Amino acid sequence: MPATDLHRDLRSAVRDLCKAFPDSYWRALDAERAYPDRFVKALTDAGYLAALIPEEYGGSGLGVIEASIILEEINRSGGNAGACHAQMYTMGTLLRHGSDVQKRALLPKIASGELRLQAFGVTEPTTGSDTTQLKTTATRRGDRYIVRGQKVWISRAEHSDLLLLLVRTTPIDAVKKRTDGLSILLVDLREAVGRGLTIRPIRTMMNHATTELFFDDLEVPASALVGEEGLGFRYVIDGLNAERILIAAECVGDGRWFVDRATRYANARVVFNRPIGQNQGVQFPIARAHVNVEAADLMRFRAADLFDRGEPCGAEANMAKLLAADASWEAANVAVQTHGGFGFAEEYDVERKFRETRLYQVAPISTNLILAYVAEHVLGLPRSY
Ligand SMILES: Cc1cc2nc3c(=O)[nH]c(=O)nc-3n(C[C@H](O)[C@H](O)[C@H](O)COP(=O)(O)OP(=O)(O)OC[C@H]3O[C@@H](n4cnc5c(N)ncnc54)[C@H](O)[C@@H]3O)c2cc1C
Repeated sequence: MPATDLHRDLRSAVRDLCKAFPDSYWRALDAERAYPDRFVKALTDAGYLAALIPEEYGGSGLGVIEASIILEEINRSGGNAGACHAQMYTMGTLLRHGSDVQKRALLPKIASGELRLQAFGVTEPTTGSDTTQLKTTATRRGDRYIVRGQKVWISRAEHSDLLLLLVRTTPIDAVKKRTDGLSILLVDLREAVGRGLTIRPIRTMMNHATTELFFDDLEVPASALVGEEGLGFRYVIDGLNAERILIAAECVGDGRWFVDRATRYANARVVFNRPIGQNQGVQFPIARAHVNVEAADLMRFRAADLFDRGEPCGAEANMAKLLAADASWEAANVAVQTHGGFGFAEEYDVERKFRETRLYQVAPISTNLILAYVAEHVLGLPRSY
């Protein structure tokens, strides 16, 4: 789709903001596995994390296209939007399914940065991709829910005030469809931690602030329920398409960063009396990576456009995520190869971005599960799992 003036202005404004957070900033945080507080604050203060919040609640009322441009530019600048992307897609669940009281109480504070909605709790250690089998339960007792269970890979829980939590409220053997009986609770982490909720950080190969959560009879007010009890899975699915499109855009940003760096280095590095980029064995892989990133970008905009028009976009969102994650991973590998030994040196940042972009083959949905979705829901092949 053609870029509008708004998109061009947005890109250049986000690029300007990111200039204050150069490679050295991200490299130092990576070494310590520290959260980019200063960057997230700057992004929040500039209003970017409230892009999808309607103007009546203090946001800018933009669409997923614009939100995706913001995240793409962060990754393209060498940063990592994974530190804050969840606020964009979790907020949609609250916006579409929350009560008026919840929206009025929370959205303006999320827009201003007073409240952070950065954590989204779905994955569990024993059930993984088989989401509907999740074991964490919330049992209604009077005006409260009692939550028991465990989650894993819940990112940014230590840097968020609110957690959007998927739990089972009706046992799986008491529902007709396995997708029924799941509900969403908006947990106030400030009240929960130490009173039934324990957060344990997980150190990973890249800097991602991810954690395990242990719920030991955590009491949550019944007013924390989002939408209707038992319909939580449907609400989550709505948000997943946005999430996939936004992550696809981050991968496009990564892919362009890798292609830029590989090109720059291939032009500058002279071996055997010529730039290494003069060799077809070096330039063709970079050119191919570029082609694949640009193709993935088209699918990302197609999916985002459908999403913003309110049209079905499940297939396109999944395909965009798959194509972009594959393209960024290919570009990452090419960038390392082009840099030779320096591809492994921290000071070039290629190895850091290589580790960061590898995640998107697995999260938020693994490549295999996307292929299974396309096979079953787009092509009409038998369900494979
Ligand atoms: C750094 C990080 C951050 C994350 N952040 C969050 C978060 O904030 N919130 C959250 O809820 N989750 C989060 N996740 C979890 C993420 O969404 C899951 O890791 C992902 O969905 C895969 O689930 P799993 O790890 O349990 O793998 P599994 O489901 O155990 O799968 C393992 C492998 O087997 C393959 N596989 C499984 N079943 C099939 C099948 N039927 N056919 C073919 N292949 C199959 C998968 O593709 C995968 O490669 C995060 C994960 C990581 C690593």
